[in-house]
Amino acid sequence: MKLHWQILIALLLAVLAGLASGVEADLFGLRFYDVYVFIGNLFLNALKMIIVPLVVSSIIVGIAGIGSSRAFGRLGGRTLMYYLATTFISVTIGLLVVNALTPGIQDGQPVKDVLNLSADVSSITAKVEGRGVSDVVEVFLRMVPPNIVAAAADGQMLGLIFFSLLFGFFMSRVGEPHAENLYGFWAGVYEVMLRITLFIMRFAPIGVFGLVARVVADTGASRFFDLMEVLGLFFLSVILALAIHMFVVMPLILRYVAGVNPLRHYRAMAPALLTAFSTASSSATLPLTLECVEKNAGVSNRTSSFVLPLGSTVNMDGTALYECVAAMFIAQAYGLDLSFTQQFVIVLLALVTSIGVAGVPAASLLAITIILGYMGLPVEGIALIYVVDRLLDMCRTAVNVFSDSCGAVVIGRLEGEEAILAEDRPNIV
Ligand code: ASP
Repeated sequence: MKLHWQILIALLLAVLAGLASGVEADLFGLRFYDVYVFIGNLFLNALKMIIVPLVVSSIIVGIAGIGSSRAFGRLGGRTLMYYLATTFISVTIGLLVVNALTPGIQDGQPVKDVLNLSADVSSITAKVEGRGVSDVVEVFLRMVPPNIVAAAADGQMLGLIFFSLLFGFFMSRVGEPHAENLYGFWAGVYEVMLRITLFIMRFAPIGVFGLVARVVADTGASRFFDLMEVLGLFFLSVILALAIHMFVVMPLILRYVAGVNPLRHYRAMAPALLTAFSTASSSATLPLTLECVEKNAGVSNRTSSFVLPLGSTVNMDGTALYECVAAMFIAQAYGLDLSFTQQFVIVLLALVTSIGVAGVPAASLLAITIILGYMGLPVEGIALIYVVDRLLDMCRTAVNVFSDSCGAVVIGRLEGEEAILAEDRPNIV
């Protein structure tokens, strides 16, 4: 059976298991919940374990293969254009949907009055207190890490990527025999890392089961339906906007800019998308994204090693869209009417902060508090959305990953790669 079917079945079983067991049920004193947590964490650890060597070797090998600095500049320029354009489109969709559905106002009344906020507010405001625009600036500062080993140890992807880019670029300029020796070494590391990724992917159905069962058990059916009564429309707005971006905009880009069949790309990316959904982390999904884009979609390592690792932290369409919808929802929920200019500022802030957001679960919440603080909106409004964040996080992460993968396809095609998603190409993974 194909991997994505296995993962999908695991997902459904996880929902049933999570609902049936809840947090408390046990067997001979062993709580099912603890088993879910254990399995899920084991899988996440395995994915995180390979990220540093995989990203470093993939970028070095890919960049060394680019050759001239002109080709490098062109690839970089196209990639940044793609990131900016798609993120801007996604935020705009979010803005239109949230204005059309106005989820923050129900029966002519701001939602805040309907919701009982008091319990969560203080703990959440404590978490976000003192955050500001400087956090965003710091992200850019971290791009040039003072200590590359520490950056790798802390999972600071941007710094690691920057260093690897430099390494790959200058490696091909040091002359023989070093250039060749180094290339052989890093190409070997890369091949080994791909094998390990494939090996870990085989456990994806089990890992996904643990991750999702845990989330379902945490939430529980009755609490979920209670929340949906008030937050249902917010939920719907986010899902609708994400769906428009993923199932209307992206296919159009794939079809008309890249000239490929979008359906083939969904099929190629299925295992990575399901894993993104289950882990709610673009970074943890990166190994699978690379594997699917290269092996299934047929994008060269030269392109994907540049577009994907960078995209997993910089290009976050789903996250930017969510930030915009959430900030607008909170404004509506507090009965605030934002002018066109203020809404435009939210769009820009969502665009910029999404670049700095890390590819880890719930990372958007910090960015949203920055936007709220900057706009003078009540920061404790974050408590409104905090309770339903996880499920939406899973959805927006899948969109983040999908947009990165489409970027690799578009740029690969623009770079003249004919084999990408060709009709006679089998889906391997
Ligand atoms: N979880 C998202 C990701 O990893 C980031 C976020 O929106 O919170 O892509």
